[in-house]
Amino acid sequence: MTRPYLGNPKNTIEVLQKYGFVFQKRFGQNFLIDTHVLEKIIHASEITKDDFVLEIGPGIGTMTQYLAEAAGQVAAVEIDSALIPILKDTLKDWDNVTVIHGDILKTDIQKLAREKNQGRPIKVVANLPYYITTPIIMGLFESHVPVASITVMVQKEVADRMQTGPGSKDYGALSLAVQYYARPEIVANVPPNCFMPRPKVGSAVICLRKHEAPPVQVEDEKLMFRLIRASFNQRRKTLVNSLKNSAELSYSKDQIEKCMEKCGFSMTVRGEALTLKQFADLANAFSSLESISGKE
Ligand code: SAM
Repeated sequence: MTRPYLGNPKNTIEVLQKYGFVFQKRFGQNFLIDTHVLEKIIHASEITKDDFVLEIGPGIGTMTQYLAEAAGQVAAVEIDSALIPILKDTLKDWDNVTVIHGDILKTDIQKLAREKNQGRPIKVVANLPYYITTPIIMGLFESHVPVASITVMVQKEVADRMQTGPGSKDYGALSLAVQYYARPEIVANVPPNCFMPRPKVGSAVICLRKHEAPPVQVEDEKLMFRLIRASFNQRRKTLVNSLKNSAELSYSKDQIEKCMEKCGFSMTVRGEALTLKQFADLANAFSSLESISGKE
């Protein structure tokens, strides 16, 4: 069987020229041309022959070849129709890969996992199109698709935001959302010269290992995320003011202060200082308020 042969500039250019491929900026196309980075991604994702892997945006199939070598089965979803005949060619030596032409944001991943992996947790691996990083990751978590881990190349700044905690300027709603569902670990920083064409920003590979059970107990997840969004929408304001001013919430100042007091928070605290556990406590305090007053 052919070994992975893309992932270096020479072979990549050869394939691109053979098909007269033109890069589409609107699809966030920056193809990997560094075998060390590819090997790091495969290593970090801990894929074995027992795994079903979903790849988002295979491009010309560079990482798909590595995934096909390591995994039992691979499904790769690609939006750009110009890449489909190329993938047919570059992946012809691997019989465990299915290429799906479509938009990942409109793909029924739940169905894919059910049909191809009997509903068992899948692993997601991708060099993501950066313009839709957050909707892809949050979509995977919130839709409760059975996922064991997500190992992805993202913008460096976004990787930092996912991994950080209170006290950092990067801490925000994305950090809390990701950490509620998974344990993030940045496994590599990747400079622009590892891609063709070169992106304007630095990149990083982050591995998100899904928690078996959420790290905090919260009665109403949606309410907790509304509180988090409200706190970071106006991150320089005090928590009381951010929550009072939020269009997504309708609590009085009195109710907010009562809940904060119940959690032992100072009335001058800002949302950006709170941990995930503290947001969960706050959401639970508001939930008990609602059940007392009968408020929807
Ligand atoms: N995996 C390849 C590599 O590492 O060389 C390509 C990565 S490139 C950063 C992102 C890929 O995602 C492109 O092939 C692009 O066409 C594809 N893509 C962009 N938006 C997509 C979407 N909504 N659904 C599926 N694929 C998408």
